[in-house]
Amino acid sequence: MAKSPEVKLAVFGRAGVGKSALVVRFLTKRFIWEYDPTLVMFIDPQNSVCVFTESTYRHQANIDDEMISMEILDTAGQEDVLQKEGHMRWADGLILVYDITDRGSFEDVVPLKGLLDEVKKPKHVPLVLLGNKADLEHARQVSTEEGERLAADMACAFYECSACVDQVGTGGGVAEAFHELCREVRRRRAVQGKTRRRSSTTHVKQAINKMLTKISS
Ligand code: GDP
Ligand code: MG
Repeated sequence: MAKSPEVKLAVFGRAGVGKSALVVRFLTKRFIWEYDPTLVMFIDPQNSVCVFTESTYRHQANIDDEMISMEILDTAGQEDVLQKEGHMRWADGLILVYDITDRGSFEDVVPLKGLLDEVKKPKHVPLVLLGNKADLEHARQVSTEEGERLAADMACAFYECSACVDQVGTGGGVAEAFHELCREVRRRRAVQGKTRRRSSTTHVKQAINKMLTKISS
């Protein structure tokens, strides 16, 4: 199996949408409480466990018969604009997460995408939109159709998932969302590599033409 360059992924979204829980689910196939009971130390006033810190993880996965190394940045979701821009510049691909039971977190996605477009201009960055907490259907505030529509507007893949109960949701669960983002990063790299190669042959052609006109004059 060929070893490929590293893919840098960042997970963005309002604090509390479940970014850390999703990353832990992807890396360990467990929900955050099973994974690390010490996280129960981070108890907020509503008595729910939140990890408001930022961490990076290294991970390797076999995706479509290729070993992909990734570095994953789990952002805190409370950064200022400068920090956000720094994280966006660093990343090759982003997962934009909202919580299907929190409309405000869904409304945060468009401004995040706006900032991303500014930072990465003129490039389009590989993206995945992920509606988390799909296990809490009774408390849903954002419909699946709204998520699909937003993803279509942003021309990216869409998943509804649950870090808590990985079997619910659409499109193959949490791991599939991360894997699809890796694929998209690699597809974009392949396309960019081709245009770069094409432009370098154009330079060579131009140089030869110049030489020929010199010789003939
Ligand atoms: P972050 O601030 O975005 O990193 O969010 P956390 O991962 O710290 O999760 C915030 C809260 O939501 C915690 O209480 C988690 O246990 C809970 N949570 C995260 N994902 C899910 C999920 O898929 N379903 C449910 N029911 N709760 C979740
Ligand atoms: Mg967190």
